[in-house]
Amino acid sequence: MIQAWVSAFVLSTVAAQAPAPLISAESLRKHVEYLASDELGGRFTGSPGERMAGDYAKKVFEEARLLPGGEKGTFFQEFPVRFGIEVGEGSYLRFRRGAETFEAKAGEEFVPVYNGDAPDEVTAPVVFAGEGVVTEERDDYAGVDVKGKIVIVFPSADRRLSNRAKARTAQEKGAIGIVFAGSPTGAGILDLTGQMGILRSEGFVAAAISSEMFERVSGLNFQRAREQAVAGRVLPGFAASVTVTLKTSTQPRNIIGRNIIAVLPGHDPTLKSQYIVIGAHIDHVGRGEMGALGRIEGDDIYNGADDNASGSAMVLELARYYSRTKSNSRTLVFQLYSGEEMGLVGSRHWVANPTIDLKAVTAMINLDMVGNMVESKLIVDGIRSSPIWRDLVSRFGDGFEVEFDPTGRRSIAGRSDHAAFESAGIPVLFFNTDEHERYHRANDHADKLNYEGMERLGTLIINVLSVVDSMPGMVPFQDKDKIVERTPPEAPASGARRVRVGLIPSYGDPGPGLLLEGVSENSPAQKAGLQAGDRIIQWDDIKITTIEDLQFVFERAMPFQPATVTILRDGKEMKVTLIPEPPALLLAAA
Ligand SMILES: [Zn+2]
Repeated sequence: MIQAWVSAFVLSTVAAQAPAPLISAESLRKHVEYLASDELGGRFTGSPGERMAGDYAKKVFEEARLLPGGEKGTFFQEFPVRFGIEVGEGSYLRFRRGAETFEAKAGEEFVPVYNGDAPDEVTAPVVFAGEGVVTEERDDYAGVDVKGKIVIVFPSADRRLSNRAKARTAQEKGAIGIVFAGSPTGAGILDLTGQMGILRSEGFVAAAISSEMFERVSGLNFQRAREQAVAGRVLPGFAASVTVTLKTSTQPRNIIGRNIIAVLPGHDPTLKSQYIVIGAHIDHVGRGEMGALGRIEGDDIYNGADDNASGSAMVLELARYYSRTKSNSRTLVFQLYSGEEMGLVGSRHWVANPTIDLKAVTAMINLDMVGNMVESKLIVDGIRSSPIWRDLVSRFGDGFEVEFDPTGRRSIAGRSDHAAFESAGIPVLFFNTDEHERYHRANDHADKLNYEGMERLGTLIINVLSVVDSMPGMVPFQDKDKIVERTPPEAPASGARRVRVGLIPSYGDPGPGLLLEGVSENSPAQKAGLQAGDRIIQWDDIKITTIEDLQFVFERAMPFQPATVTILRDGKEMKVTLIPEPPALLLAAA
């Protein structure tokens, strides 16, 4: 029934639009080129590059005059993710050479590696084994006795031998621990965050030291020693009788990811109380901290142009399109998630801590990897989540070769940010141009994308959204064989608040208007510039003389719908713009 009704609605009311692009390939390219630039370092969750990407998106949203939809009146929502390790209390590393002692500063000059079974403290002689490589052509351990000792090696730039493999080799040769000196590219220190255990083996310890520390302890020039080691030449020995005392203590590290959320209020007085979420993840795998598939010689930045600067760019351009055309009846919520590559963390966090009423979200559109269209091929997942999707997408899918809800090996169900929404009973549509040979590799570069394909997809999405947006009811949800009709949440009963404003009225004042005793900290009222002593005399078109007048206004107010508030301050009339927040923000801020 529902399906028949919706199909009839779709076919009767919406004429397919002309194929003229509604958003431009050039603007899409501009966003992708910035987001996927080396400057942003692969946008790893919590990294400076991820923050730069978020700041860029915020600027685009602001310039398009969208409203902040995050927490505490900002465009952002932060969330914690456990990732890797950091130096715990009571770690130390001490070298002794003859009568001299060198104490390494934890976190700067040395970083311990997590190993659950590492002994409390070890003291052992040190031996140097160059790059620590053992192959058929070469044996860096030849003539070196490492039994019961701690081996110092250089990490390899090209990772033909991983740190883990080097640790295993050292242990097989009888060493009781390994210390990596410098970084894979030379000076500095190995970044071991994200490496939860070089070698989980009883009695084996591991740590990294800085190139400077190496020089002090060995008396060797780091660069020269490293060059010789990389070339596989015979290495100068260490000064005799260097010992190291190492105690490693580590703890899990929390990093802070950041979602970006912007709101474009709807233009229909009734339908604007419902939301359409349009989302994409903005994070990627950085410098291969995790999730990297194979490295590329001389390039260690995973730019993530298709994954997912492409989807992010599409979200930004859709925001600009609707801001320009003012064609949306319902309120549009644009979201750029972080933490996707770490397990959909950002989108799950938002669904668990929404900044709007989830029950009023009629549909969620997810865009992940939409920049690699080959011969008009398009994957649309989420069709199962509503009985209306297949007809609707097919209606506008002329010229595309669409594959619906792929299953099996190529199944993308649940592998991107729409998953949490679908679990919450919200119909989802996921657009994707399929995986390719650059997927999660360092050569996922901006110049490889098909921007004309993105432009065409943008038009398809706008057409699909035009129906979702103009439907009289909410998009029905399908849970396996069961179709769930959805009704928007009822308007709150009299007195119940659906917005947070933050006014503290003064009771018993004779007027005129309503005297403010103050405003709440960080509230919309404070952000609008209201202060104690102001008298509110009008709210949009409604004259305010009593508390009841204000109550009347609040019962009808919608989150993010700017209101013009007229006040008397020191006898003079002035107007301010106040943007009410949803009450959920109160909880989030608490
Ligand atoms: Zn992705």
